[in-house]
Amino acid sequence: MREIRCAVGAQETPALPEAEPEAEDQGSGGEEEGAEEARPGAALQRLTAARIAAACTRRSGGRRWHTVGGRERTDVVEVVRSQADLRAIVSDYLPLKKSSGSKYRALCPFHAEKTPSFYVDADKQLFYCFGCGTGGDVFKFLMLYEKLEFPEALKSLATRYGIPMPERSAPESGERHRVLSVNRRALSYFRDQLQRPAGDRALRYLEGRGITRETISRFQIGCALDGWSGLKESLASAGVAEDQAVLAGLLARKEETGRTYDRFRDRVIFPIVNLTDEPIGFGGRVIGSGEPKYLNSPETPAFSKGENLYGIGFAREAIRKEGYAVLVEGYMDVIALHQAGVAHAVATLGTGFTTGHVRLLKRFTDRVVVNFDPDAAGRAATRRSLEVLLENGFEVNVVALPAGKDPDLFVREEGAETYRRRLQSGLPYIEFLTRDTAGRHDLSGTRGKVAALNEILPFLARLDNPVRRAGYVEMIATILGIEDRLVLQELKDAVHDRRKGLKPATLSAARGASVVSEAESRLLRSMMDSEDVRRAVLDEMEDGDLEACRIADVLRVVRDLVVKGEEVTYPRVASMIGDDARDIITRVAALPHPPATLEEGRACLMALRAARLQRQMGDIQKRLESVGKAEETDDLLRLKIELKRRIEALPKASQLS
Ligand SMILES: [Zn+2]
Repeated sequence: MREIRCAVGAQETPALPEAEPEAEDQGSGGEEEGAEEARPGAALQRLTAARIAAACTRRSGGRRWHTVGGRERTDVVEVVRSQADLRAIVSDYLPLKKSSGSKYRALCPFHAEKTPSFYVDADKQLFYCFGCGTGGDVFKFLMLYEKLEFPEALKSLATRYGIPMPERSAPESGERHRVLSVNRRALSYFRDQLQRPAGDRALRYLEGRGITRETISRFQIGCALDGWSGLKESLASAGVAEDQAVLAGLLARKEETGRTYDRFRDRVIFPIVNLTDEPIGFGGRVIGSGEPKYLNSPETPAFSKGENLYGIGFAREAIRKEGYAVLVEGYMDVIALHQAGVAHAVATLGTGFTTGHVRLLKRFTDRVVVNFDPDAAGRAATRRSLEVLLENGFEVNVVALPAGKDPDLFVREEGAETYRRRLQSGLPYIEFLTRDTAGRHDLSGTRGKVAALNEILPFLARLDNPVRRAGYVEMIATILGIEDRLVLQELKDAVHDRRKGLKPATLSAARGASVVSEAESRLLRSMMDSEDVRRAVLDEMEDGDLEACRIADVLRVVRDLVVKGEEVTYPRVASMIGDDARDIITRVAALPHPPATLEEGRACLMALRAARLQRQMGDIQKRLESVGKAEETDDLLRLKIELKRRIEALPKASQLS
């Protein structure tokens, strides 16, 4: 669990005064609600420092602030605390209504409620919620509401009230500070270039991709001109030491000569800004056709790719509101989506997802909708990325856009509403993975199914929620067409044990007698044995009957032979099919001889069809339970009625005796 460092009860916090009983002006205020107000109003009088401190300490696990800052910082904390106005700060986020005396109230932002039980005491500079027990001072409020760590909350308040922060004394942070200062100069240089005639190409590129002036300004987009020393000279004339610019990754150094040159050339520049609005690095997209297409700042004392997400500062409010983050691949995707009003999109910076990203994102949500390039979502590197999310308890859905469309292009062509609908129709990652894997294996034989399963199981095993794991077994069995009880049981066992693969024994067991159902065996047998049955069954067979069928490979060969008017014999058919299918036909041939009647062939076919329709029915039922939108529900219901009609129209399966 994330630890919340708590403001109240900290050593440097001055003792909080006991709340003094006040005369409540009950019923006199127009907005008061009589009895409704009486309880929290009176209770607020009992709100003592001790109570808040207790509430905070419970949540903080006893940790105190003074562990995070030195002496200088403690002084700043006190200056900020004395100047910050909690009521004004809270008013930035919530509509506060005057309650009584120095107290204000609002609906609590930290739990769902219909009548306000969140109180701010402007005199005491404390807030408290009678609904959920959350309380604290101005730092605590910002930390909880903005999901900030204490130093960030402190910095944000210090900036707001114009209180200078002491520089950190550690050499690393000194370097970080210097890098940020160089970055700020570079940022204004890049932005400036975009406004000059020479920046026209970059500007036209951005306009060509539908980026408005407003967005350019909001995301502080700039450009680097096509030259080796534009930024270098600009930084030098501002008195920035060359070494500092190299440290910031803005200049690169030629090893042989020691000469430095601009790292970013002829590129559109996207500043990478962190949660506290610091320009920690830059991303550059080539304007022409140069390589590499995208170039990022290297790792510097201020910038680590694995710790930052592009757009997180712009997205955090929307992520909180929407309840999830949209994870896309590129700067342009983030920018285009934000411009279209899909403001909860962020991107990794040309790297896989790391635990650093997880920590960052976890502050705002534990749900992610991944919208990568359709190919990328199935790629091994992407899988590993998403695995990191799953392992950390994230709920991951995957959205696939039509081939060749990235989110940037899609949202421009189809609009934000269509894109939002796509986001809502994403598949849980395990289901996406199962479908993707199913597409790459030949699932007509057990071998292919077990191979596919063994690809999926490691991911399933990483889900730490056993209920969720178990819930996926049916979905996987349905998609892979696993009806075999042995394989299904193995799958359930593996999921239960969090095993990452099926036992080798499963494969051989599954290839035994139980692979092909009774109906399939008898259908195949009667078709092999009688030309009448063959013709009648092939006439009545629908495409779908073959799809769901384990004996499909054999039947296709039989059908081709019949169509060509050639002889159908066991050796002939066996010579034309794969290993798995040959196993099946060999076993069928060895069955005790049943009479090959037309009735039996038809009954078997109907039994198979009934099973298939029932499976489809099950799928539809499951989807009905998971979709929320009316239009989709209507379609599914129509399908369901049609299926029901067809199932009822089938001759009863009991005819198969
Ligand atoms: Zn509350």
